[in-house]
Amino acid sequence: MSSPASQPAIRSALHASIHPVDVDELPLDDAGYAALVRQQLALLGEDPEREGLARTPDRVAKAMHFLTAGYAMTVEEIVGSALFEEEHENMVMVRDIELYSLCEHHMLPFFGRAHVAYIPDGRIVGLSKLPRIVDIFARRLQVQERLTEQIAEAIDDVLSPLGVGVVVEAYHLCMMMRGVEKQNSRTITSALRGVFRDDSRTREEFLSLAHAKLAV
Ligand SMILES: [Zn+2]
Repeated sequence: MSSPASQPAIRSALHASIHPVDVDELPLDDAGYAALVRQQLALLGEDPEREGLARTPDRVAKAMHFLTAGYAMTVEEIVGSALFEEEHENMVMVRDIELYSLCEHHMLPFFGRAHVAYIPDGRIVGLSKLPRIVDIFARRLQVQERLTEQIAEAIDDVLSPLGVGVVVEAYHLCMMMRGVEKQNSRTITSALRGVFRDDSRTREEFLSLAHAKLAV
């Protein structure tokens, strides 16, 4: 597909918010992709011209570009100048980051939460940037294992911290809808670097915080 996500208008729309008001309204026109969806509808035995489906190819094109917009984003531009010198030496953690991605095997959603933590080594990043980093990699065709690694690697690269820990827990519609797995099974993946990998106390602190039930 062409890459409308590299167009300035849509890029700024995608950057503006994690959840834009309405993806259908995105300033995107990808006739090639829409034609493909029209063909897909016909192959499924549908009539792409009927009223309910008339605008579907255009909507699907917009949705797919939005859901894969991470390809056109870099960690550097998301983090920007939000790096700060700081002597804080304890764990920084953002829990329960909403995550929506597409499995690369079926192009069906998987969704859940990411818990991200690091121990700074002289600098910290603005807290709001951690969910954005998650989004950069979630908004691609993914497998959960690689997504988890990429989030950890990005934080490692940008902050050079003493350690990084990432846990992702997600439900995969490709398993649930196709009847492959029980409806409530969750897939949990983790990526540990630096002291999170090498120091058992740090690792345990992180994992117990990641899996703890919060009272708030
Ligand atoms: Zn799948």
